Amino acid sequence: MSRFLSDNYKSLVPYVPGEQVNVKVIKLNTNESPFPPSPKVKEVISEEVIDKLNLYSDPELKELTCAIAEQFGVTPDMVFCGNGSDDVLAFAIMGFCGKGGKLCCPEISYGFYPVYADIFGVELEQIPLKDDFSIDVNDYIGKNKNIVIANPNAPTGLALTFDEVESIVSSNPDNLVIMDEAYMAFCGESCMELVKKYPNLLVTRTFSKSHSLAGLRVGFGIAQKEIIEDMNKLKFSFNPYNLNTLSIKAAAAAIADNEYYDEKIATIVETREKVTDQLRQLGFTCTDSKSNFIFASSDKISAAELALELRKRNILIRYFNKAKIDNYLRITVGSAEDMQTLVDAVKEILEEK
Ligand code: PMP
Repeated sequence: MSRFLSDNYKSLVPYVPGEQVNVKVIKLNTNESPFPPSPKVKEVISEEVIDKLNLYSDPELKELTCAIAEQFGVTPDMVFCGNGSDDVLAFAIMGFCGKGGKLCCPEISYGFYPVYADIFGVELEQIPLKDDFSIDVNDYIGKNKNIVIANPNAPTGLALTFDEVESIVSSNPDNLVIMDEAYMAFCGESCMELVKKYPNLLVTRTFSKSHSLAGLRVGFGIAQKEIIEDMNKLKFSFNPYNLNTLSIKAAAAAIADNEYYDEKIATIVETREKVTDQLRQLGFTCTDSKSNFIFASSDKISAAELALELRKRNILIRYFNKAKIDNYLRITVGSAEDMQTLVDAVKEILEEK
């Protein structure tokens, strides 16, 4: 640490992203898609577009907000885009909770929520999950604090129903409820249509998982226009060009290609179900994940040891050294072939025990 860092940030504990590697491994540690993005993405990154990179990107992101609005049947003034949904979450937590504000989230959830709360001086309550890792909806009814929930939750993969989400949103009319739907495409019940009914709901999504564009860094939030206006006020006070021209074009092309992505998502869901069954047959406990990862634990081998053994075989999965989940592994659903390699490796490791 240098002498110059502000006292405000000295105790900050940053978010630790999953490892990115250059060597050839089976990479099941950061919930990326095993498929390339839609071919339409390549088509729009034309030489003509590259030649215009001397100009700033559109700070209003018109092309992309219109494409997203069309997809979700809302108006473009209900869409806010960010450099990944992390950016959207950051603006929301900064803007609607702020210094001294109150926020709550599940105790086991996306690791960035506590980090954002910390950096923006927000008082965070982390609410324990039930023993089966599900969220107890009653804990969030009439909470009188801002709320952020990943639905499906990460790393458990468990999802709240539409009705459960509505009961949380409707019982907290004076607080913002952020539903982080990063993994929603993989078969949860989205609450997106509730944004028209409730002025206190912000739904965030990402291109990183279902749309095979983690490296592009694009996410978005949908809410009533007053919320979006507030977020834009912050954005234009901080980083007006938060998306670059290539990202805007590529994401707009991707979001329109339902045919391509519906098929890829269906394949991922099918593989998830198959591999979950295979792991259960090997004695693993797996949650009923509604996301693009499997959350699994074995009583034959510790999660830490299994992660290490898999790593020796060039298979990366995510292990969290965190109370309550330190005997679980989060395994991204990769291609059918890679997942078979994983299952074979797990079998071999268990046999060697
Ligand atoms: N929410 C959740 C629950 C996530 O797991 C992630 C991925 N790390 C994000 C948001 C952020 O994704 P991105 O910034 O790539 O859109």
